[in-house]
Amino acid sequence: MRVLVLTGAGVSAESGIPTFRGKDGYWRNLDPTTLATPEAFARDSKLVWEWYRERRERIRTAQPNAAHEAVARLAQQTDEFLLVTQNVDDLHTRAGIPAQRMVRIHGDIFVTRCSRCEFSERGGVGSSEPHMRGRLRSIAPASDNDVNLPWCAKCHALMRPGVVWFGEQLSRNELERVENFIDAGACDVVIVAGTTATFGYIMDWAMRASRDGAKLIEVNPEETSLSRFATRLVRQPAAIALPRIVDALINRGAL
Ligand SMILES: [Zn+2]
Repeated sequence: MRVLVLTGAGVSAESGIPTFRGKDGYWRNLDPTTLATPEAFARDSKLVWEWYRERRERIRTAQPNAAHEAVARLAQQTDEFLLVTQNVDDLHTRAGIPAQRMVRIHGDIFVTRCSRCEFSERGGVGSSEPHMRGRLRSIAPASDNDVNLPWCAKCHALMRPGVVWFGEQLSRNELERVENFIDAGACDVVIVAGTTATFGYIMDWAMRASRDGAKLIEVNPEETSLSRFATRLVRQPAAIALPRIVDALINRGAL
């Protein structure tokens, strides 16, 4: 059996990770959709780094919820499985999904990468990582509230978070992994959970993977652009709906 699962911010919301949409996502009265852009980083990289440092701290103290655990259980029970997540947190990983069964299409918030060359590393600017600070060239902090900006150890350009910002291209490697999985055969089950499928590629992958009559299950409290194509709609939060859906799929012996 082939299973594709697509997840978004709604899956991590119940672990206390705010989504970008709505008031919870605001930081110092700033709209995250304007902070997570190359323009914001060019204008005020210190501000953007402070925001990412706080988000990293918040994710570190968060725990995977029942939705992450259900997806991990499904991955263990399925021969051909791929999770494509838009979430940059590491909660799917901590729930037990191995890297080779997951594509993090919007990157990894704990990766710090060079804005100019290919150099990247995990960590790099968080206040709880003093050993990383020492290794990077940093400007002197102007005050206690400042973050030290990280500079590339190879080419000395400014380092940035290893995520895909609004208006940026997806990683070619990660794109290829999704395309290869979808091209290798139609899926039996496609689950789209906690995402409004705003990005065209999420919609496109869900549709193509569910060709030839797959079950296309949408888990979202609200109607989305994908809803009219779904064979089953579950209007509940992912942490409630996914454990039941996964149990039913496994118990029915369909997997
Ligand atoms: Zn560099």
